[in-house]
Amino acid sequence: MKILVINAGSSSLKYQLINMETEEVIAKGGCERIGIDGGKLTHKAHGETFVVEQDLPDHTAAISLVLNELVDKKAGVIQSMDEIDAVGHRVVASGETFTETTLVTDETMKELEPLSELAPLHNPAAILGINACRAIMPNKKMAMVFDTSFHATMPPYAYLYGIDYDDYKKYKVRKYGFHGTSHKYVSQAAAEYLKKDIKDLKIVTCHLGNGSSISAVKGGKCIDTSMGFTPLAGVPMGTRSGDIDVAAVEFLCNKKGMTFAEGMNYLNKKSGMLGVSGVSSDFRDLCAAADGGNERAQLALDMFAYDCKKYVGAYMAALGGLDVIVFTAGVGENTPSVREGVCDGLEAFGVKLDKAKNVYKNDGAIHDLSAADSKVRILVIPTNEELVIARETAALL
Ligand code: ADP
Repeated sequence: MKILVINAGSSSLKYQLINMETEEVIAKGGCERIGIDGGKLTHKAHGETFVVEQDLPDHTAAISLVLNELVDKKAGVIQSMDEIDAVGHRVVASGETFTETTLVTDETMKELEPLSELAPLHNPAAILGINACRAIMPNKKMAMVFDTSFHATMPPYAYLYGIDYDDYKKYKVRKYGFHGTSHKYVSQAAAEYLKKDIKDLKIVTCHLGNGSSISAVKGGKCIDTSMGFTPLAGVPMGTRSGDIDVAAVEFLCNKKGMTFAEGMNYLNKKSGMLGVSGVSSDFRDLCAAADGGNERAQLALDMFAYDCKKYVGAYMAALGGLDVIVFTAGVGENTPSVREGVCDGLEAFGVKLDKAKNVYKNDGAIHDLSAADSKVRILVIPTNEELVIARETAALL
């Protein structure tokens, strides 16, 4: 079985064709500048990279180009589109409408439409991608796989905010969480790696990238996560503030003469690591600056590790213990100092990092960083969100 995974953004689109028998990526790539001049497709197959430069006026043009490339004599990997058994689409927000991977039909597309207000930057792009695929491949089975659905198992006391319950009911304002496919992938991979039944494990998964979220996974199910109604919540991130006292936002808006919308932009785009360090949102830049003696870059890094550590501690309490900590995503997989900072001081709780094992060059493999006498296993697991989308799509069909 071959599954095509599509991750559509507003002006970009990424894809992977995955052979489900071996779970190998047969081809992958992406389109850039959809709807803008200078469209470009980069396609990787047979160990080669193929580039096609062509204007892509809309998502339908982008998907057409991708499909042409997949069946192309030179760059292609399949004879015809019939070899694609199904398409899995990444969709960010499921609201409370969908709690699991869902077949794309006229009815479910209608139900998806109103959820765009929960993820205005992401869901409309996914809808464009799905509609484009349906237009070109009307008989192909397709699934929507949501970033939020892994978090649908959170109990109400974990996902509710302390606001009027009627407002929660009416407006669905609650914690949804994000990065669900990643948290799901790494928690399952941890159980497999440790040769344990996931039902017996209490895991904290740290997806640390540009956007970061931390989840508590008990018996394979998410019971809490750090992001909230939007991806602004939780630990401070590249440019996002993370959790902040809302009254401080009102105060700042007044002092700086910002409207509420400008205040939100400030919290989303100019805060976090960038705001605190004044250097960059990128952890590679921050580490280099801190190594060169920049105190604010070091402060931002210290703040990030401290906040992540507090979530690990909170989730140990929520889980009633801890067996495994997993680090994943750009920062989690590549930044030893962050991993050390998160684990530092948790020795009394059975978390003991082997500092020598912690420093290695990311080779895409799973690494166990636990000291021999660590009660809690500390793993780095490269994430693979596309594979989860493909697996979910195959399972649905
Ligand atoms: P997102 O998917 O949220 O955009 P990523 O998971 O790609 O983010 O993480 C990006 C972050 O990972 C950046 O801050 C970057 O500095 C950091 N990082 C550190 N080392 C590397 C590396 N070798 N490759 C990629 N990202 C890295």
